[in-house]
Amino acid sequence: MEILGLEKDELTAELAALGQPAFRAGQILDWIYAKRAPRFDAMSNLPAALRGSLESRFVLRPLSLVRSTGSKDTTQKFLFALPDGQMIETVLIPASPALYGEVSDRLTACVSSQVGCAYGCRFCASGLDGWKRHLSAAEIVSQILSVEEISGQKINNIVFMGMGEPFANYDNLLKAIRILNAPWGVGLGARHMTVSTSGLAPRIRDFADQPLQIRLAISLHGATNEVRSTIMPVNKRFPVEELIEACTYFSTRKKQYLTFEYILIRDINDSPEQASALARLANGLRAKINLIPYNTVEGLTWERPDRPTQEAFLKILLDRGIAATLRREKGHDIAAACGQLRLQTSRDQGTDTAGKKLFALGPGAE
Ligand code: SAH
Ligand code: SF4
Repeated sequence: MEILGLEKDELTAELAALGQPAFRAGQILDWIYAKRAPRFDAMSNLPAALRGSLESRFVLRPLSLVRSTGSKDTTQKFLFALPDGQMIETVLIPASPALYGEVSDRLTACVSSQVGCAYGCRFCASGLDGWKRHLSAAEIVSQILSVEEISGQKINNIVFMGMGEPFANYDNLLKAIRILNAPWGVGLGARHMTVSTSGLAPRIRDFADQPLQIRLAISLHGATNEVRSTIMPVNKRFPVEELIEACTYFSTRKKQYLTFEYILIRDINDSPEQASALARLANGLRAKINLIPYNTVEGLTWERPDRPTQEAFLKILLDRGIAATLRREKGHDIAAACGQLRLQTSRDQGTDTAGKKLFALGPGAE
């Protein structure tokens, strides 16, 4: 059993089954999260017999590092193997002013929620090989602990913008978020976590109804059904109007700004008409817009527009009073690149994933 996937009451119940008093749960959680003990045998105030039975019953670190790139002060990427041999990627981004247009000393982890992705967006490396499986809550939480351990740095911001569609793995996502947020767990404030979705409207409503003030980002990438459907198959399931209705519900319920992510792709979604349509959508909702110049993916043909086209698109939004930012060079490194290390590694191993992409929702889609 994965101990990082247990909430305090669940661990208490597991320990009760082992004949242990309730206070042991607090001690063990303190070792796991406050002291960051990597092994049960380091938990020195527990009786040796208990440490032994914890060792045989629970897994403490489900991820093992396969490869990493980058170094402190730059974006670092970590490729992890899961217990079943599947691989996921976590990205660590230092002081990410570009994410929300603020200057700060944030250290952001870009976390994966699934192995692969069923949603097949045409710009994205994560969906190229289809969907494999959900990550457990423990595998999500563990990305934070493992990356902190390996890098020796403390993460103070989390974005669910890695591989996978977080809202297609809703229950595990929310459980992981509760553990990351809990005072007995990682203790990270809800406002320091952002979930990004390709637009699963019913889940956006569920998310609005859950109690935590987690931030929400929507991968919009097209401001009309015509354009969005050519980029994201999910738009056929939840078209723009339905998505915007769910977003309105979210921002009214949570009294929060949300963010629209909009990748600029040359000749696909970068016209002045799209910019105007986008401004109208954002205006009705009071959403912020994050423009991201497309990051070329090996095996996919799209490109980013030139700089003047990017600036012109931004200007249309700004002229209409929309809070919009255009990711500058650092944007290359941000979530944009998630999924690409895994893709590269699978190609190195001879499993070329390009060309297998189907323009449809795959198995695993909600
Ligand atoms: N499935 C969720 C979360 C993961 S993808 C979602 O779609 O929102 C998160 C973001 O990664 C996308 O919105 C997009 O902003 C970014 N992204 C993916 N591929 C990219 C690429 N090739 N260039 C730029 N950004 C990309
Ligand atoms: Fe999946 Fe998000 Fe990539 Fe679309 S953008 S394929 S939903 S990970």
